[in-house]
Amino acid sequence: MTERPDAALLVHYDQCLSEHGDTARGADWPNEHERRTRFDVMLDVIPDWRTRPLVLCDLGCGTGELLAHLRRRGLGDIRYIGVDRSERAIELARRKFPDAEFVVMDVNAPDAPLERLACDYLVANGLFTVKATLDFEQMWQFMASTVRAIWPHVRGGIAFNVMSTAVDWQRDDLFHVPADALLALLHHLAGRSVRLRADYGIYEYTVYAYRAPRVDRQPAVEAEAAAPAGHVSVPVMRPRLPHAAHLLPYLKRIDDSRIYSNFGPLATELEQRLAALMQLPAGGVASAGSGLAALVGAILGGPGRATPARPYAVVPAYTFVATAVAVEQCGYLPRLVDVDAEDWLLSPDTVLADPRLDEIGLVVPVAALGRPVEQAAWQAFTARTGIPVVIDGAAAFEALIDAPSRYLGPVPVALSFHATKSFGTGEGGAVVSTDVEFVARGARALNFGFHGARDSRSASTNGKMSEYHAAVGLAELDGWDDKRRAMRSVAARYRDAFAAAGIGAGLHVSPQVGSSYVLYLAPDAESAERVCAALAAAGLDFRRWYGMGLHRQTYFSQLAHGPLPGTEDLAFRLLGLPVAPDLEDDVITRVAHAVAAALRPAT
Ligand SMILES: *Cc1c(COP(=O)(O)O)cnc(C)c1O
Repeated sequence: MTERPDAALLVHYDQCLSEHGDTARGADWPNEHERRTRFDVMLDVIPDWRTRPLVLCDLGCGTGELLAHLRRRGLGDIRYIGVDRSERAIELARRKFPDAEFVVMDVNAPDAPLERLACDYLVANGLFTVKATLDFEQMWQFMASTVRAIWPHVRGGIAFNVMSTAVDWQRDDLFHVPADALLALLHHLAGRSVRLRADYGIYEYTVYAYRAPRVDRQPAVEAEAAAPAGHVSVPVMRPRLPHAAHLLPYLKRIDDSRIYSNFGPLATELEQRLAALMQLPAGGVASAGSGLAALVGAILGGPGRATPARPYAVVPAYTFVATAVAVEQCGYLPRLVDVDAEDWLLSPDTVLADPRLDEIGLVVPVAALGRPVEQAAWQAFTARTGIPVVIDGAAAFEALIDAPSRYLGPVPVALSFHATKSFGTGEGGAVVSTDVEFVARGARALNFGFHGARDSRSASTNGKMSEYHAAVGLAELDGWDDKRRAMRSVAARYRDAFAAAGIGAGLHVSPQVGSSYVLYLAPDAESAERVCAALAAAGLDFRRWYGMGLHRQTYFSQLAHGPLPGTEDLAFRLLGLPVAPDLEDDVITRVAHAVAAALRPAT
């Protein structure tokens, strides 16, 4: 899919419109009163009403209700241009106001006719308040690129609103923006001609940026309304892979061999050393270009592509999107099934109870956040049903090397060596199994189905690991003991800090989960939101690693699924906290304090 993430916003608003019609709710505002308040605050962008006629552009105009508001207020002589991405909304607007100018435009499209929105003032009311399924970074990109695109076409100034961070808790679907971050963005465009309003009784604020310095009103008071929220200063994950000096001997070997890919000497050595570490027979590891590729290789090499009789592949709804992407690439329809809220995993019994068991061609249990998946239960499942199983063990590398007899066997496991995983090669992965025949088929599926000769003999892809990535993997293995020690220390220090703060019960760290995760399971969804707000206010990044579940990813949201209470519960409550092999004590203390403060009963 080449669509930009913000395409999800258009889907969201079109959904609201078809559910609630041309009402405030239909534009995703809680009620008509608040909508009109916002219209007035937006029009406040116009410094002097006597300088009419003027041109007002309404970006994200929806069904054109701002024009109705202008006319109600007797400001019909303002030339209004309504612009929106939604063809449906613009069609409704044109029907209501046949004499007005409405334009369907995606201002971020490379060929957008931006000159059509040339105006004196531009308002974007509610264009940046709902982020729906986007994450903060994606929404910020959308806002920043939109503002930069329209700015050269505005003669006077612009106004738009975002949600405040000075709230009791931040909603995950809304875009809460620290005011200082937004002011920094606007100062780039407008120098010091920026104003902020947070005085109209709604959990948001409006910013105004002007092309020329404003002299009419000094914004001293308004500037104070900016919440003193900090920038994000600590990222949720700061990976550390081998330094260049440690790569160099391996890179020199590449220079000498002049073999750059196709299971060359470095990839082969990496496979052998990994097999030894996991107590697997020689040939028990096939390297792959990514964790996703490893999954695809394991599926194509064993179960193969979906068949008309068995179109479904069961994947847990609580996982990283790669699981569903992989089965879809192999022709399966992902069948989203709930996980157990206690152990976060898909249970064979849940799949056995599926009324469409006969149409399931594949099951992909996931080692959620590095919690390993037992071989025995899934071997029994296949023995009973004949349905093949491939385990997405992407983040479970440590569990596999610590207890290979429990977690490795004939059921193939796909691993990810992405930089953010505990063992990293940048991008990379592997198919591992005690069944070396199976692993060999997986490797062939990752190399165009070539079987010795250059003859494609099976369904395949190109998912090989290059020699350069293998070099990183070998250097990572050289330093693996040190890295593990560092990650264990992070886990231990988190455990101590959370215990000291009296909140140890909700903390999940290695070895219970992969060491690339430090997780806090809040007592309930509401306290999780309070924890998020406290972390954001302290400049500490956090992440719901699996988003809000696969069923809420735009692309997969169309899939039919049953109730997902376990997934829902975890998605709301389980938060990823900052991790790095060299995470400072000070950060851990700050995190513990922020979480503890958020959980203390209000006084
Ligand atoms: C990381 C991960 C993947 C995919 O790995 P990539 O190497 O990024 O392709 C798949 N499944 C799960 C559960 C993961 O955490």
